[in-house]
Amino acid sequence: MTDDDLEMNFTDLSKFRKKSEVPPYPIVGIVGQQVMKKAILLVASNPALGNIIIIGEAGTGKSAAARGLKDILPEVETINGCDYNCNPKEKSRLCQDCKSSVTELNSSPRRIPLLEVPIGASERRIFGGFDSQSRLKPGYVGQANRGYLLIARANLLDPDVLNRILDISESGIHKSDKKHGDFKHPASFNVIATMNPEDGELDADVLERFSMAMKVQSIRDIEERIEIVRRVEAYRLDPVDFVNRNRREMEAFAQRVKRARDLVNRVDMPKKVEDAISKILQRLGQDNDRARKALLEGALANAAFNDRVWVTIDDVAEVADLVLGHRGKA
Ligand SMILES: [Zn+2]
Repeated sequence: MTDDDLEMNFTDLSKFRKKSEVPPYPIVGIVGQQVMKKAILLVASNPALGNIIIIGEAGTGKSAAARGLKDILPEVETINGCDYNCNPKEKSRLCQDCKSSVTELNSSPRRIPLLEVPIGASERRIFGGFDSQSRLKPGYVGQANRGYLLIARANLLDPDVLNRILDISESGIHKSDKKHGDFKHPASFNVIATMNPEDGELDADVLERFSMAMKVQSIRDIEERIEIVRRVEAYRLDPVDFVNRNRREMEAFAQRVKRARDLVNRVDMPKKVEDAISKILQRLGQDNDRARKALLEGALANAAFNDRVWVTIDDVAEVADLVLGHRGKA
C-alpha cells in the first residue's frame, strides 16, 4: 500500500538516477487547501509550535503539501559530517561525536532536514541502534534533528511507536534504554503527520498530543478539479520544468519562512492577548498546558509569518480552529 497523494508514474525518469532525486511537487502548486498550507507554513515558521497532523482522504494533496515543505525550508549552520545536524553554536546540545571530537568542528550552511518515515519502516530504522561493528547508526529521529519528520498514514503506525516518536519530539532528546541499546543524542524535530480516516481512527489521547490538526476535503469545484489535473499532468511530464515555473513563488514563501524563523523569538505577546487566550480556553473547557502552549505558539507563528513583532487577537483567532478543533472537553 502506498499513500496515493500524487504518487504517480512519471513519463520520463531517465534524467534521474533514483526516484528520490525527482524534486517534490511544490507546495505553492497545490490548488486550494489554504488551511492545510497555512498550518505547514506556521510550523515551518515556529518550531516551538510542536507537531501537526493533517487528516483527509487520499488525493487531497496532504502528503504532497508536507513533502513540498522541503524546498522552502531555509539553510542553517550545521557541523560538517555530523549525523544529527548539530548546531555549532549550541554547545550544550551537541551529539556525543561532536562533543568528543579532538579536531576543530567545521560547519557550513545546510538546508533544514525533512525526512519521511516510510510505511512499514522498522523500529530500528526509526530509532537507530548499533550495527554489528558496534557503530551507532542514527534513525530517522536522529537524522531529523533540527528539522521535520513526515509520517504519512500515521494511524497505520503501531501506536506505541507513534507515542515514542512524539515523546522524543517533545523532549528534544532521544534517550534509548538498555533494551534498545543505551545511547543518547539530540533529537529536536517537528512531526508532520498525515492520516486517512478510511484507514481507521487515531486514539483521542494521541490526537490531542498534536498542537494543530486539520481536516482536508477533496476539492469538488469542477474548474479547480480540472486545474489540479492540468498541474499534476504538467508535473508528471517534466517535474524539473514544473518546479522551475513555480520557482519565484516558492522563493517568496522561502523568504517569508526564513524571516519568520529569525523573528519569532522576538515577537511580543501583550498581556491583554494572553488574558484573552486564558478566557477562550476556560470557556471551551480546554484550559490545559498543551492547548495553551499550542495556542500561544500558533499565534506567535502567525504574527512572525506576517512579519510582525507583536501578537494581536486576530492572530489567536486565525489559529484557534487549528489548535482547538480536535480537542475534547476537559
Ligand atoms: Zn553532532
